[in-house]
Amino acid sequence: MAEYFRCDPGKYGCNASCCRDNESTPSLTVGDLYRISRKTGERIEDIWKTKGSVVLQMPPGMKNSFFVTPGLFHNPCPYLNGDNQCDIHDSRPISCANFPVFHQVLEGADLENDKIKYDCMEGCEFSSEQIEIAKRVEKIQEAENITALKILGEIFWPIVIEGPSDLKKYTAQARETFAKKDPSFTTMRGMLLKQNIDYVEGQAGMFIEGISNPFNQVHMAPIFHAIYDDYFTEVITGKWNEIRRAVRQTSREYLEVLGGIPF
Ligand code: SF4
Ligand code: SF4
Repeated sequence: MAEYFRCDPGKYGCNASCCRDNESTPSLTVGDLYRISRKTGERIEDIWKTKGSVVLQMPPGMKNSFFVTPGLFHNPCPYLNGDNQCDIHDSRPISCANFPVFHQVLEGADLENDKIKYDCMEGCEFSSEQIEIAKRVEKIQEAENITALKILGEIFWPIVIEGPSDLKKYTAQARETFAKKDPSFTTMRGMLLKQNIDYVEGQAGMFIEGISNPFNQVHMAPIFHAIYDDYFTEVITGKWNEIRRAVRQTSREYLEVLGGIPF
């Protein structure tokens, strides 16, 4: 009989590595932000500013062009507690609940790489129930992305990076924006940003070749978070009441599905 996937950190001794891996940063829908805020009592802007990051998503078949979406800082995730448990488990982001099932049934996902990285995925299969739940959850994620698009518009417009000078334009913008808040780059965010700017600028030529590589995208995430930080805060807080009303229904559905997930 097939062994179906189970998340079992005790069995695999994995130290919850998938919640620490900065190459698998979860994206956040507007509904995720709403549910985390309700669960923890944090304000949206505080979640985004202190725990936020971005996820770069490349449309299939596109080269050097990607969308920037909000995500969770992930090195490790700020909601992972000292016992390797998720503090927001019953309201965790959709990308977390769907990991790894949906990720692995997606065409083009890097299955071999995931299996090498995470022992729990080696040789596992997914039950039809798991795949069914993953599909339901994915529909909710799509609906919340459409809600964001309707209310917020394309706030994270597609970024195209054709050559090293494009890349340096973004690093310069991030440096300038961030320096207004932390001129000496001594906060944790500032140090991280500076390291990544130095790295990206030093490797600019190679970056253009490998921009779809998750490792390179990890270095770019703090740069785009710095660029969008205040802009996103302003846009989302201004529309928050409208968003909250719009995601109530999908949130009810999602929390119901989440409560019934036996894995
Ligand atoms: S999904 Fe795998 S790697 Fe992640 S916490 Fe569960 S057992 Fe560990
Ligand atoms: S929100 Fe929870 S499940 Fe998701 S990465 Fe963080 S600790 Fe892991």
